[in-house]
Amino acid sequence: MDFFVLGLKDVKIISYEQNYGRLEIVLEKTTSCETCPSCQARSKSVKNYREHRIILNPIESIQVQAFIRKRCFRCLNPSCQTKYFTEQIPGLEKKHIYTEQFKSFLADLYQDMDFPTIKRRLSKKYLLDVPIGTLHSKLKDLPKESLLVKYPIQTKYIGLDEFSYTKGHNYAVALIKIGHSQDPKSKIIDMVAGGKTTAVAKAVLNSVDPISVEACCMDFWEPFKTAVKEKLPNASVVADKYHTIKLINDDIQTLIRRILPALSQYDKELLEENKFLILKGRERLDDNQSYDLQTTILINNELETIYVFKEQFRSLYLIKNIDIAR
Ligand SMILES: [Zn+2]
Repeated sequence: MDFFVLGLKDVKIISYEQNYGRLEIVLEKTTSCETCPSCQARSKSVKNYREHRIILNPIESIQVQAFIRKRCFRCLNPSCQTKYFTEQIPGLEKKHIYTEQFKSFLADLYQDMDFPTIKRRLSKKYLLDVPIGTLHSKLKDLPKESLLVKYPIQTKYIGLDEFSYTKGHNYAVALIKIGHSQDPKSKIIDMVAGGKTTAVAKAVLNSVDPISVEACCMDFWEPFKTAVKEKLPNASVVADKYHTIKLINDDIQTLIRRILPALSQYDKELLEENKFLILKGRERLDDNQSYDLQTTILINNELETIYVFKEQFRSLYLIKNIDIAR
């Protein structure tokens, strides 16, 4: 009957103990005599033992090592050139330290971690010191989505935006790949910590191939524009919708502040009360609000003109067909 322990054939567990938080298992082959690889003579004469260490899958958080005591036999055939030979164990390659099972455990870690993180994790959690070079050689051929992305990324359209994290105490600049008809998925490519400076924007733009980018969408922030002009020779700077509408709304607010003092008390109150309706998108107003809005913008010619312009401008963004939008 074939007998397997830990994927190895014809071995038995001699002893096991927990040592410095590790489980150590000692294994030995079950057979009593071995065949000389040169002359095929059988021998029971053991000269000494060699220890072959293998690393197994951790059990819970305990690292497991096995020591296989391989016997070194004397060849008793006087005409054989081989004096000594070490027994081979089916399933155990020469110099092989990691079992297939352990490799698949590493492969699981690799899906969420890079090499230094795996190394730290093995060392901290399992007291196991695996060199980065070993991880690399075991795992380098496995597919991994994040490694399949080649930097710098080739993409037509990108966006730059600032955002804050840790409750507004820290800022970073995000680089976004903007999807289009051939490649519809938009996603964050990279981010660099720091404020809205040219240096931070330039640092994050290193993640795209400068030749491939045709347009960069952003607010009207001068340092960002400078960074894009320096780093991306082929890219047009495009003002993004949110910031563009915001600029128009800022102008509307300035206009309101300017015309307010000259208005009659009645108009003044009407305008102050309905100001938010002017800034809101027309499609989001209910019937009563639409009526109030119409009455309000008729107070002043300039106000009416800028409102109509804002809504016409906004309607451009609602057009899905690029040719019509042009
Ligand atoms: Zn021999």
